[in-house]
Amino acid sequence: MKNAILSQRDLAVLWHPCTQMHDHETFPLIPIKSGEGVWLEDFEGNRYLDAISSWWVNLFGHANPIINAALKNQLDNLEHVIFAGFTHEAAIELAEKLVAITPAGLSRCFYADNGSAAVEVALKMSFHYWQNCGQSQKTKFITLENSYHGETLGALAVGDVALYKKTYAPLLMDVMTVSSPDCYFREEGESWADYSTRQFVHLEQTLQQHANEVCAVIIEPLVQCAGNMRMYDAVYLKLLREACDKYGVHLITDEIAVGFGRTGTLFACEQAAISPDFLCLSKGLTGGYLPLSAVLTTDKIYGAFYDDYEKLSAFLHSHSYTGNALACRAALATLSIFESQDVLANNSILAAKMTVLAQRFLNHPNVAEVRQTGMIVAIELVKNKTTRDPYPWQERRGLQVYRYALSKGVLLRPLGNVIYFMPPYVITQDELTVMFDVAWQAMVNVTTK
Ligand code: PMP
Repeated sequence: MKNAILSQRDLAVLWHPCTQMHDHETFPLIPIKSGEGVWLEDFEGNRYLDAISSWWVNLFGHANPIINAALKNQLDNLEHVIFAGFTHEAAIELAEKLVAITPAGLSRCFYADNGSAAVEVALKMSFHYWQNCGQSQKTKFITLENSYHGETLGALAVGDVALYKKTYAPLLMDVMTVSSPDCYFREEGESWADYSTRQFVHLEQTLQQHANEVCAVIIEPLVQCAGNMRMYDAVYLKLLREACDKYGVHLITDEIAVGFGRTGTLFACEQAAISPDFLCLSKGLTGGYLPLSAVLTTDKIYGAFYDDYEKLSAFLHSHSYTGNALACRAALATLSIFESQDVLANNSILAAKMTVLAQRFLNHPNVAEVRQTGMIVAIELVKNKTTRDPYPWQERRGLQVYRYALSKGVLLRPLGNVIYFMPPYVITQDELTVMFDVAWQAMVNVTTK
């Protein structure tokens, strides 16, 4: 009853993200009372395994005792302070740590308060850097097909998921969009590395022709998450770094979704042994507790803004909640877990279990592909395995999977017809088994209709 009452109150006043609100005339909203570890509990005692880390933010479980304790302590001292002209210990310590753990050469940290804002900051900083260096003809950005970088207008412009972008097209800046290394489209028998290498030719050509007017290339390293968890090989990042250097263009890596251990390494860039000019972080940065993002960049870029005030070369971008003390403290507590526990080693055991559990999906007649990068597994449902014809989107099979899985106590949230798993790192092997079993039942249920 309590669920229904809260749901009713919510629907009278609220407008939810990424939702056609009309759907809630038929699909119930789920009010959550509490969370613990991988579990969420509603007001009627139903529990849901959070298989997608609440939109990929949660790393070490809901109500994590270490993060909780750190936040309670911070709360008694300082909740927030203006971050221009003032500073505080948590922001300083976090920046020191981020500089230390991110790829070499990233020595400056600029805070914002969500992923999209971090992308905006990186785009503006790159553009502004070239202005400050007297290269005002550099005004364009290069992005990949099927990429996603957030929903604010700049971030949306450098993304390429039509569902989110198309409506707003007249409002968005022009970008150059090149074919993606997305290995779903490789030839039969072709390796990820070969396909990713082959696909690089498009980016190389675009740089060759347009580098003079391009500020930066922006990319999601290894996994295009919102673009249906499409994956590619690290060799592409290596080639990209080399080409950006060759043609004098910045490289912005958006690790908002894949940072902090999701792909097997702390940062996905490590798998290509590269350092970007800008690294965007958010989501897992605070363990899924509070909104915070960071853009890491180099001395060289920082130096191009550093001058007498009268030169008017400063980066004046600001958000009220920049460097929020509670968020920085949650991030420090999250990093302390990486320091005190061998999270990546444990994740590799969990990832291996996920590989095994995903096997049974391979031969299903409606599965075109099962793919995995670290702690991310995706299952591509199609109408026809041979031709890979998708199900008509109007059938909303992914939504049916979501509803079925919820009824069995697992929160999956397929992207279109792609079922994926991106669980918190505190999930147990038994919970992984439950998660895959329920997904299997859900898939069988919606593909036999
Ligand atoms: N970049 C990537 C790669 C993302 O996955 C997301 C969020 N899904 C964003 C940017 C935007 O982050 P936020 O939702 O915090 O604005």
